[in-house]
Amino acid sequence: MENQNTFENTGSFIHNYIKEDLKGELNKLRTRFPPEPNGYLHIGHAKSISFNFGLAKLYGGKCNLRFDDTNPVKEDVEYVNSIKEDVKWLGFDWEDRLFFASDYFDKFFECAVELIKKDLAFVCDLTADEVREYRGTLNTPGKESPYRSRSIEENLDLFNRMKSGEFPDGARTLRAKIDMSSPNINMRDPVIYRIAHAHHHNTGDKWCIYPMYDYAHPLEDAIEGITHSICTLEFEDHRPFYDWVVSRFDFDPRPRQIEFAKFLLTNTILGKRFLKSLVDSGEVDGWDDPRMMTIAGLRRRGYTPESIRTCCEQTGLSKAHSVTDIAFLEHCLREDLKAKSKVVMAVLDPIKLVITNYPEDKEELLEVENNPENPEMGKRMISFSRELYIERDDFMEDAPAKFFRLAPGKEVRLKGAYFVLCTGVVKDENGNITEVHCTYDPETKSGSGFEGRKVKGTIHFVSAKHAVAAKANLYDYLTIDDPESPDGYRKNKNSLIEMNNCVVEPSLTEATITDRFQFIRNGYFCLDSKANGELIFNRIVGLKSSYKPDK
Ligand code: ATP
Ligand code: MG
Repeated sequence: MENQNTFENTGSFIHNYIKEDLKGELNKLRTRFPPEPNGYLHIGHAKSISFNFGLAKLYGGKCNLRFDDTNPVKEDVEYVNSIKEDVKWLGFDWEDRLFFASDYFDKFFECAVELIKKDLAFVCDLTADEVREYRGTLNTPGKESPYRSRSIEENLDLFNRMKSGEFPDGARTLRAKIDMSSPNINMRDPVIYRIAHAHHHNTGDKWCIYPMYDYAHPLEDAIEGITHSICTLEFEDHRPFYDWVVSRFDFDPRPRQIEFAKFLLTNTILGKRFLKSLVDSGEVDGWDDPRMMTIAGLRRRGYTPESIRTCCEQTGLSKAHSVTDIAFLEHCLREDLKAKSKVVMAVLDPIKLVITNYPEDKEELLEVENNPENPEMGKRMISFSRELYIERDDFMEDAPAKFFRLAPGKEVRLKGAYFVLCTGVVKDENGNITEVHCTYDPETKSGSGFEGRKVKGTIHFVSAKHAVAAKANLYDYLTIDDPESPDGYRKNKNSLIEMNNCVVEPSLTEATITDRFQFIRNGYFCLDSKANGELIFNRIVGLKSSYKPDK
């Protein structure tokens, strides 16, 4: 389906900068999405992806996918591949613009040499602890490193020897020479290169010095001709150094950094560190566990890319910190699923209903609509017979007056079929109900125009003889906001309920991974992509917002 989201009314302050900077030539806009391949992408990244690619599309510009792979210790090709898959699935295309920061390592090195030659960088022998100590605090200025006045020749010699592997990790750093008394700590001679004898997923063992993020990122943007480098608010204080780096060289255009507040959701902890800890501890079934707010998890859960993009577009983008109610994301999802999903009969927790006055060997085929909201989806036939399955909680032996489903002496409609009147139950030796008995009224067939009397409830069913066994996973949030706990949340112990004895109508054996279903009264479901031929359905979302926190 064509991607309709324009992002025209999202983040107006950013649109204003772009129009101001590019004058009439908006198609010169170049943006990028720059993930570090140290984990799977999450819903927060979806905001950044859809906005950066969306803006480029809106203005006829271009958006690059660039892996910011400057920290070899935490990065991995598994993450590179998952990120590519996720960006594509969300509906965005980087065309031939797939880049890796590690492809620029030579260029970063040359730029560092140039800085040394301009007396704007020096090799420092202070340890990491000492660097921290010399840096000062927000209220006190820093102290200059005793190595700051090294000659250009000595710096060049030492930097080259750092590169050739002469020194152990941590022995020396290359630092920019700016201002130790700057009120902005990021400008106090920041480290721009560190020694790390580490294997890199892309460059192998070629390098044993690696550039720091704050130095590499502006250069990556500048090298690719990015005009607007859109990032999250925590980089605001780093902007002076970003500008310092790009203006030391002759880049045209010179990229401009613009920050916005992170996209956050209630009852949701984002951040790769947290998500990775869930994966590593085995609390979830991998990065694509359907409860994970990763793109891979949302995909396996059954979310549609359209619903995620729409949520990203409609929740706006600003400088002000805010948290979006996750119910809004779920609303966008339901709105999208409503018209796309086939409405089917599936009983999650079955109990047998026997229609005692229906002939034993009779079977009927009844016509039902595939989606009452979308007649284009057509109709299909469902089987009806003497023995059916209904939801256990659609029956109550001692029902209160307000219970409009099945109870002794009460009459309900069976969806798409007949009225049935409950006449009694059968119990086992322990007193558990094993069958509900009823009689049906042949006059009341759905679509026959019967008007003799009305019933208050309609319940769904699956014909026992035709039923197919299935399983269903019902999900809740992994974490729940809790102002009382030190981190502001607690883990939800009941985030997964496995229903292993479900029955579904036979048409569901033909379900494919991309199909979405509405199981009447139980929510939206899709086939689990890791079901391996078994009929396992994931609940994407319930039909109504009905969130209740656990105890
Ligand atoms: P995290 O720590 O949450 O995994 P990150 O910022 O370390 O995120 P990166 O791979 O460095 O992850 O981020 C790639 C891009 O995604 C960056 O431009 C970053 O600003 C943006 N981004 C990350 N989290 C969010 C979020 N919650 N909302 C919007 N953009 C985000
Ligand atoms: Mg990061």
